Amino acid sequence: EEKDGIQSAERYVDGLFEEDEQWAKVREQLAANDMPDISVEPGYGRLLTLLVRASGVQDALEIGALGGYSGICLARGIRDGGSLVSLELKPEFAAVAKSNMEAAGFGDVVEYRIGDAMKSLEQLAEEGRKFDFFFIDADKGGYPAYLEWAIKLARPGAVIAADNTLLRGKTVDMTRTGPSVLAIRAFNEAIARDERLLGAMLPSYDGLALAVVK
Ligand code: SAM
Repeated sequence: EEKDGIQSAERYVDGLFEEDEQWAKVREQLAANDMPDISVEPGYGRLLTLLVRASGVQDALEIGALGGYSGICLARGIRDGGSLVSLELKPEFAAVAKSNMEAAGFGDVVEYRIGDAMKSLEQLAEEGRKFDFFFIDADKGGYPAYLEWAIKLARPGAVIAADNTLLRGKTVDMTRTGPSVLAIRAFNEAIARDERLLGAMLPSYDGLALAVVK
């Protein structure tokens, strides 16, 4: 069964790779716990692992845990002894994510912070925490603020990735002017033009923004 909006080229590319068994396991848990089936696509999950591995990430931060699939992808790339802080609004989702991370062998790597990400980000800044990699994948209206926080909490050269920058076509449909759409457009423009960043955007699946903090 395919998810909405997946094109034939994406299906072809997906078919080249062996199915990620953790993807299937997390989806089972999402269904069993009445959670939405909106984890990052495995193709982008693989890219997250690759980017984290290639840039030698020690400390990663994710905004939006859901069932832990992106957490697993990030943890696969993090250096030995490294860490992942995962921010999740809903305690019941964080519990599912934690159990999936533990089942995948990454229980020791991850620390969950429950509640509104804006509050957790403020707290991480107060604690003087810094990160080498950010994955933004929570409420779309928050993206511009999450980008500012990521820049603030970044070590030099840190990488920022953000999913769903196309909002299933809404981003490019100029008749759509809802708050999430406007926030995502502002976020995408910052990825393209903010002088503190070197940005790029991948328009496959639901759109992935990438940037390096200069
Ligand atoms: N990154 C996950 C993955 O790929 O496996 C998927 C995350 S899902 C698209 C978005 C998540 O963000 C949901 O679990 C939702 O509860 C969480 N979320 C929404 N608003 C939030 C907020 N203000 N602070 C923290 N988490 C939030």
